[in-house]
Amino acid sequence: MKFATKAIHAGQEADPTTGAVMTPIYQTSTYQQLEPGNHKGFEYSRGTNPTRKALEDCLAALENGKFGLAFSSGMAATDTVLRLLNPGDEVITGDDLYGGTYRIFMKVYENYGIKFVFVNTSDLNDLQSNINSKTKLIWIESPTNPILKIADLQVIGELAKKNNILYVVDNTFASPYLQNPLDLGADIVMHSATKYLNGHSDVVMGALILNDESLFKRLWFYYNAVGGTPGPQDAFLVLRGLKTLHLRMKAHCENGRKVATYLRKHPKIEKVYWPGFEDHPDFEIAKKQMRDFGGMVSIVLKNADLAETFRIASRFKVFTLAESLGGVESLVNHPASMTHGSIPKEKRERVGVVDNLLRLSVGVEDPDDLIADLEQVFS
Ligand SMILES: *Cc1c(COP(=O)(O)O)cnc(C)c1O
Repeated sequence: MKFATKAIHAGQEADPTTGAVMTPIYQTSTYQQLEPGNHKGFEYSRGTNPTRKALEDCLAALENGKFGLAFSSGMAATDTVLRLLNPGDEVITGDDLYGGTYRIFMKVYENYGIKFVFVNTSDLNDLQSNINSKTKLIWIESPTNPILKIADLQVIGELAKKNNILYVVDNTFASPYLQNPLDLGADIVMHSATKYLNGHSDVVMGALILNDESLFKRLWFYYNAVGGTPGPQDAFLVLRGLKTLHLRMKAHCENGRKVATYLRKHPKIEKVYWPGFEDHPDFEIAKKQMRDFGGMVSIVLKNADLAETFRIASRFKVFTLAESLGGVESLVNHPASMTHGSIPKEKRERVGVVDNLLRLSVGVEDPDDLIADLEQVFS
């Protein structure tokens, strides 16, 4: 089946007892057993729930994977992967990373004796030269948040395989509509389903998708043992969101292109980060591994200090100043003080997360209204 069909149907069948076309919200914590151990595959909802199972199967299908696991947040999904590590292990990851991922690495897992090495994931030499016998995990974001650098997922996959290193790609920014890291060699795809997958800014959820059954069993153990799993109502909402993922992503990409192109010519803007520009340093890789360039656009304001940047960020009328991304509505975010506030200043400034950087999540409103909003903000 092709993407749009999978988005609408994968994992979902009419309910066998009533014929309900939409997967019911199985609002139950437990399931009857006819005798101990004799049940229909569901025992207790921390581990298994039919609504969540439908969502997990749909997510797996969209990422071309065999197994899906849904979590109560993207961070719970990340935490579950990190539990596979042992003290003394090393992780190689990107220097431009979601702030919460940086925080769980450095403020939680470093305390347990795991070492994190930050590299420029667009520079393969930097990545390769940091691999040693202790390296157990490579964690990649592409496009990165918020500078929108692109890593060559396939080449990194070959490196990981050759060195027997677990390879995880956070595919939140691209969504499976734009790229499928499992097809490029990733062992696990991680998602904040809070963003494009759900797409309506009304649920917090995470997901892992993978192909290897023994790895799936190890992850499922922590999923159930630790219990960061979502409830059925939220699973239903994400399942509903997925049905329009392909339509929304198409519109996000079109509007993203229009907004990026408009801003690039604007005299008040010093720099626009968007991987669809032919002079973006990673454009060729983006073109090779992505089907389009997405709706995330970051901008550096010309000659604006922090106070002026705050004034501008507060002046939008159609865009809303808020954390998060990937919903149908356009959002503007100030990474240095909001999403990336937990990264030390000199560290974030080194990769470009300066005080006058704003990140736009371009929504699916009429693009003329989005451009008009930008025009009034900068006039
Ligand atoms: C939001 C986000 C996360 C964290 O997910 P939550 O659902 O907020 O826990 C991880 N990675 C990226 C790229 C994100 O944007």
